[in-house]
Amino acid sequence: MNIRFRKEELELKHLINNRIQQVEMSAIRKFSEAVQQYNDGVNLTIGQPDFPTPDHVKQAGKIAIDTNKTGYTNNAGIPKLRQLACQFVKQKYGLTYSWKDETIIMNGATQALDTVFRTILEEGSEVILPGPAYPGYQPLILMSGAKPVFVDTTKNDFKMTADLIKQHITEKTRCVLLSYPSNPVGTYLTKEELADIATLLQEEDIFIVSDEIYSELIYEGKHYSIASFPEVRDKSVIINGLSKSHSMTGWRVGFLFAPEYLAKEMLKVHLFNTTCASSISQEAAIEALTNGLDDPIPMREEYKKRSDFIYERLVSMGLEVEKPQAAFYIFPSIKQFQLTSVQFAKKLLEKEHVAVVPGSAFSSIGQNYIRISFASSMDVLEEGLNRMERFVSASKAEKLTQDT
Ligand code: PLP
Repeated sequence: MNIRFRKEELELKHLINNRIQQVEMSAIRKFSEAVQQYNDGVNLTIGQPDFPTPDHVKQAGKIAIDTNKTGYTNNAGIPKLRQLACQFVKQKYGLTYSWKDETIIMNGATQALDTVFRTILEEGSEVILPGPAYPGYQPLILMSGAKPVFVDTTKNDFKMTADLIKQHITEKTRCVLLSYPSNPVGTYLTKEELADIATLLQEEDIFIVSDEIYSELIYEGKHYSIASFPEVRDKSVIINGLSKSHSMTGWRVGFLFAPEYLAKEMLKVHLFNTTCASSISQEAAIEALTNGLDDPIPMREEYKKRSDFIYERLVSMGLEVEKPQAAFYIFPSIKQFQLTSVQFAKKLLEKEHVAVVPGSAFSSIGQNYIRISFASSMDVLEEGLNRMERFVSASKAEKLTQDT
């Protein structure tokens, strides 16, 4: 007997973990994929530096393969790399961590975030974080069973403040997530602003997770880390890595620094999840932190140039926008067009074949904005902005006709 089943009858969708079903695919990917249907498409969506990994670092990766450094490493990472990572944050940001007990090499900042959330969050825990925020946080928080509590920072120059945190603390708050320099805005917190947050949180039984992946890409001024304040050092977890500073996104090298009692627990999560970071990438990272400490400088200078250019262009189109101070993103307001950010991004894509990311991808607080990445050459940016200018003028004219 030939029994035929419908596909749906064979699927067990109802048994899939509910937390995972809540999570949506990345809106950034949706637009970066949609633009590929156009031969003349301009993609301004991605957070992928357009520079190659520095040659000497690539070479170190090749040597690692040729000399058979291709086995498992220590779970926490190659000792030499952990030592260099500690030296790096000591020299640059004055942080003091033991390489043996307080430093773990991760598969990118993403795995570090996942590891810390799984270690400290429980069902019902709340995580206070700035809105708009990098879209990678919410899914990881939800998958840990916790709840993201986005704080509207749009009226505070997109900066989290001690006051804003205080207003959102409840009995369930387990962690405050800081994300500076910020994606999508390119702002960062000053020493004084961080000191206020440290003063507030020193009295609270709340962890601080600080994602500092763009710390080497501040154009002018200096990066401060929350862990440099002794009063909160032992409740803080610092995340950094080489993805953005050394244009090494595909190598997957991240750093996690935490006090020993916490690092010990996080190491279990890391070890049973992934054993260790790639040995080849770790060898390349050793080279980056030995002879490549200045590698980010030319990239940072180029990002600043692009940022100045794109900021001027957006202002001259009549868009309200914060000037980026770091990283490679800009976040103009599109409120005047009375469209949702998805509608705006879709229209821009359809009419001018330019892809940007709708601000709502960065939480509902980003609804009136779009994010433009300037990790593309000046030529690409100029073309994208010319088209956007045409689109903005046409939309303004259209609105004027509707209004009159
Ligand atoms: N944190 C922020 C704020 C980011 O913007 C990104 C990537 O865009 C990441 C973390 C992920 O970094 P990694 O590629 O090292 O996992």
